[in-house]
Amino acid sequence: MNSPVYRFAPSPNGHLHLGHAYSAILNDEAAKQNGGRFLLRIEDIDTIRCTPQLQEDMLEDLKWLGLHWETPVRKQSVHFDEYAKALEKLQSMDLVYKAYLTRAQIKRFVAEKDASDTPWPRDPDGAPLYPGDNSVLSEQEQEAQQNSGAPYALRLNMAKAIELAGASLTWNEAHHGTIRAEPAAWGDVVLARKDTPTSYHLSVVVDDALQGITHVLRGKDLYHATSVHRLLQTLLDLPEPHYEHHDLILDETGRKLAKSAKDTSLRELRASGTTPAQVREKLGL
Ligand code: GLU
Repeated sequence: MNSPVYRFAPSPNGHLHLGHAYSAILNDEAAKQNGGRFLLRIEDIDTIRCTPQLQEDMLEDLKWLGLHWETPVRKQSVHFDEYAKALEKLQSMDLVYKAYLTRAQIKRFVAEKDASDTPWPRDPDGAPLYPGDNSVLSEQEQEAQQNSGAPYALRLNMAKAIELAGASLTWNEAHHGTIRAEPAAWGDVVLARKDTPTSYHLSVVVDDALQGITHVLRGKDLYHATSVHRLLQTLLDLPEPHYEHHDLILDETGRKLAKSAKDTSLRELRASGTTPAQVREKLGL
């Protein structure tokens, strides 16, 4: 059997916190225990929020923790053409459409629905499902919006995609066995935008396949996203990794840590004299 390949795939859109340290260390340890490889991937498709300085700080924090990874490190922002190819494949299957509704238009529509007897459905992250341009705008309004050169998102036609991929998608979750994927819960997810030829979901499945990732070990906050990933892997004919979603590190109030919260950032901890060994101890590792 080939040796397992693990990855830690942070986005340099803020400073790393204890939750990132936990995930990175778990991946590194799993790779070591199983005679595998540990890769780092920089998920910086949001080229506005992900800055070179934050990236540099991120690498420094990970090195300070004592982690080592293979080089060269894959950096998503220099591979847009590869994600565009995957997008083209989905387009050639007639699974992608241009969605023009603005945030404000969606908000207004959803507020109206919520005020009625049947509240509008939300995705597993709590965001309203995309209503479809037809439900909100007249044909004339749609045409006007399209002709004005307005920004748009490229969305997956979820119903059609599920029909094509087959209804019985599953994944293998460590310690839990076979889990039924439920991508329909996400509605028509965004695959790319007018000015960004990819999205988190699209680039993550392309890269996991391209880097030969056999084990995706990440936080529980991405558990439900796995349903979308399994659907895209099936449509794009990509291999299926093993999955494990670890517990999240919470703050004293039981809330998920945020990149904006200073007290748990690795930089702050380091500046206040905490050692990498103490970080591990704090994390119960
Ligand atoms: N880049 C994602 C994040 O920072 C993680 C992606 C993944 O592990 O699949 O939340």
